Amino acid sequence: MTFQELCLNQLIINAIEEKKYISPTQVQEKAIPAVLNRNDLLGCAHTGSGKTAAFAIPILQLLSEKPAISKKHNMIRSLVLVPTRELAIQIGESFEAYGKYLDIQVGVVYGGITPKRHIKVLKKEPDILIATPGRLLDLINKGYADLSKVEVFVLDEADQMLNFRALDDVNKIISQLPKVRQNMLFSATMPKEVMKIANSILNKPVKIDDNIESIKSADIKQQVYLVNEPDKTSLLLRLLEDKSYESVLVFTRTKKKADKVCKTLNIQNIRSKAIHGDKNQSQRLKALELFKNKEIRILVATDVAARGIDIQNISHVINMDIPNVPETFIHRIGRTGRAGISGTAISFCSNEEKELLKTIEKLQGKSIEIIEMP
Ligand code: AMP
Repeated sequence: MTFQELCLNQLIINAIEEKKYISPTQVQEKAIPAVLNRNDLLGCAHTGSGKTAAFAIPILQLLSEKPAISKKHNMIRSLVLVPTRELAIQIGESFEAYGKYLDIQVGVVYGGITPKRHIKVLKKEPDILIATPGRLLDLINKGYADLSKVEVFVLDEADQMLNFRALDDVNKIISQLPKVRQNMLFSATMPKEVMKIANSILNKPVKIDDNIESIKSADIKQQVYLVNEPDKTSLLLRLLEDKSYESVLVFTRTKKKADKVCKTLNIQNIRSKAIHGDKNQSQRLKALELFKNKEIRILVATDVAARGIDIQNISHVINMDIPNVPETFIHRIGRTGRAGISGTAISFCSNEEKELLKTIEKLQGKSIEIIEMP
């Protein structure tokens, strides 16, 4: 299928061509027509599936087809709620890129920086607002944001909102939206709490479940080392002697372990940074930037910090431990092998973690190759 076949505005197609996308991804193929037909959408899709374009492109098209009736002060026509600042910035950039030839204004607001900057953003009257819940609620309460004219609402990475304890804020924001509107909810996993929100906001949604399917079809080589817990760091160091481990995302279960691994790597002159919930925004952004620009070779992350982050060309994902929730594993390995590029996911599994590994294999419907210890 081509983007032309999705009946998109030529101005949007021109922008997509500049991004060098050749054809729509599975999620885009299903989501774009559904959204253009004004359906609600429930997407079980991971970052890397092209889900941002899957909602951003049809939103841009719908808004450009039906210009705003009146340019009321601070009138937001589409609201995208996301769990993290990094994701907000990234999604804002995607909207800007796909909509670069349209007369649609995009604004982004998120916590961690002075609200003054965001008041300025809202004064520019964006048609589309991408926001993290806490900061947006703050701006609504101070009278800077008016959601009464929102036509399309997107809740992205909904499962991460649960981890960020932002659920209360999300519900308060939803209560400010007009009753008649189009809704989309995207989540990599669908725990009970997310399904509850989905059921309360979505009206007969078109359902797309690309999560596991796309991992199956993505070009990701999966391998596992059976290794004792205390030997994991030396195994990591041994593997990193191989220079083909060019750009490596290492996952640890805890923040403390992320810092410890990072410290050990740096002592060994392997340039690395850690990102997790205890790092402030500028530290996290800086680490991501260094990693994206290949100034550091290793990024050590906890699940919450890494989720939803769009980094291309990660050659290897290394799981220093096996996560308790199998979907988290799928999410982790989905950081590599993205947008058609091949990647390798390596997991370190201790005796105690063997049962967890079995559950993961069951979810994927295949076993993971065991590699001899070097
Ligand atoms: P997302 O899942 O939205 O985070 O997108 C993951 C990455 O895939 C982003 O870097 C996008 O620029 C890229 N992407 C999205 N759609 C396509 C497409 N149709 N073809 C190639 N790359 C794409």
